[in-house]
Amino acid sequence: MVKTQKINYLIIGNSAGGIGAAEAIREVDRVGAITIVSDEPYPAYSRPMISDYLAERCPIERMLYRPADFYEKNGIRTILGEKAAWVDFNEHVVKLEKGRMLTWRKLLLATGGLPIVPKIEGIGLKGVFTFTKLDDAKAIDEFLNQYTKRIRAVVIGGGLIGVSVTEALVKRGVQVTIVEMKERVLNTMLDEEASALEERALAQAGVEIICGRTADRIDSYFPEEVSGVSLDDGRSIPCEMVIIAIGVQPRLELISENSIMTNRGILVDLHMETSTPDVYACGDVAEAYDFVYRKLRLNPVWPNAYTGGRTAGLNMAGIPTKYPGGTAINAMKYFEVNIISAGMLNPPDDSYETVSEKHGDIYKKVVVKDGMIVGMVLASDIEKSGIIYNLMKDRVNVDSFKEALVADDFGLASLPEEIWRERLAIPPPELTSSVTPVEPPREVLISE
Ligand SMILES: Cc1cc2nc3c(=O)[nH]c(=O)nc-3n(C[C@H](O)[C@H](O)[C@H](O)COP(=O)(O)OP(=O)(O)OC[C@H]3O[C@@H](n4cnc5c(N)ncnc54)[C@H](O)[C@@H]3O)c2cc1C
Repeated sequence: MVKTQKINYLIIGNSAGGIGAAEAIREVDRVGAITIVSDEPYPAYSRPMISDYLAERCPIERMLYRPADFYEKNGIRTILGEKAAWVDFNEHVVKLEKGRMLTWRKLLLATGGLPIVPKIEGIGLKGVFTFTKLDDAKAIDEFLNQYTKRIRAVVIGGGLIGVSVTEALVKRGVQVTIVEMKERVLNTMLDEEASALEERALAQAGVEIICGRTADRIDSYFPEEVSGVSLDDGRSIPCEMVIIAIGVQPRLELISENSIMTNRGILVDLHMETSTPDVYACGDVAEAYDFVYRKLRLNPVWPNAYTGGRTAGLNMAGIPTKYPGGTAINAMKYFEVNIISAGMLNPPDDSYETVSEKHGDIYKKVVVKDGMIVGMVLASDIEKSGIIYNLMKDRVNVDSFKEALVADDFGLASLPEEIWRERLAIPPPELTSSVTPVEPPREVLISE
């Protein structure tokens, strides 16, 4: 007979979202049983650091997201290396792939994303990899170790994952070609100018970039081994390995039809609760409130997963808490170019204003709508990006000083006095402020 274990808090996914939730629960409930299930066999590690593992074989101990004794110290039970295979959301039961059944009081789905793999000829060949987890980095490392000569790789997709793996491969001495379907690399998170800076750095590192093209086929001379990639314009690029980096999709395999409301991801309200009571979701698998677009959106970045997880955890533990909202935010340093971007960078129409400054490698742009910042990108000189991001997040009206935001000498002192006092939490002498009040995020209804 299969034994069923009753757990107060069951978390599926042991990464940014799952850890955020577990920590928040423990802060307010010292005794309730918490179990984290993950099909990856490792304690939580920094996923963005898998490129460091590949580049320099960074030991996993240095990639750990929390100290090795985190779980024990917090009384968190882990079931690692085993997949949750099936869930009955109404009966509060999860079945693990080896047959064990777990029941829960509150469930969090922090299952992240899965790489999108195109169904093209040759996709199953030896030498074709994805790059979203530590085991992918290990597999690529092993593959590279077989060669003594310099090898060539084609990276299909020039987004965050594609550029990240490219940097690691270049550090390992691989000759890389990036094939990007759109007109420029990092096109969803940067604007044209910032993409151009990154492309220049990639080219200086010897990376070939082919934009506006897709891979039609992965070729093979010898059985099962990659020999090149054929593009949709008939060109063929010789290579020994291929990395598929065309994107990540929410991992929804546990959601059966009609069980939980989904769009592209799992829809959650401001408490990170799904359409089914007692079931929460966060991170890359969830569509949560975006404070720039003012609606539910997928924003698959680490800080949003952690904050969403914390919010879910507090609510699961009975402390009503609202998600402050997230947005697409990326801090990157590929090939020594520091770039921070957030929000909307490529405005859809001319009701948006853009203020920018560019000289040498320094580039700054702020997008403003109705007096509020809705997007920002800073390259090379990123020191003051935190101030701009917070003005955006808090919906401060910047109309009277927007040009100052991109100036070389921008700092807190560039802001009107009542605003910098508020930013530094120094009360104004007369205890009033003309700062546009922070508008609390609307309660976002699942039906929206
Ligand atoms: C190469 C790379 C570079 C990145 N760089 C950055 C960066 O610079 N900055 C940034 O902010 N973000 C970056 N990201 C994105 C960031 O890593 C993610 O947004 C973040 O990891 C999402 O956390 P999560 O908890 O939602 O899910 P994930 O980190 O995806 O974790 C989900 C976990 O759940 C497990 N799981 C899923 N389904 C099941 C199941 N049925 N049973 C058991 N376990 C299951 C998965 O195996 C996985 O371990 C990068 C991602 C990659 C891949």
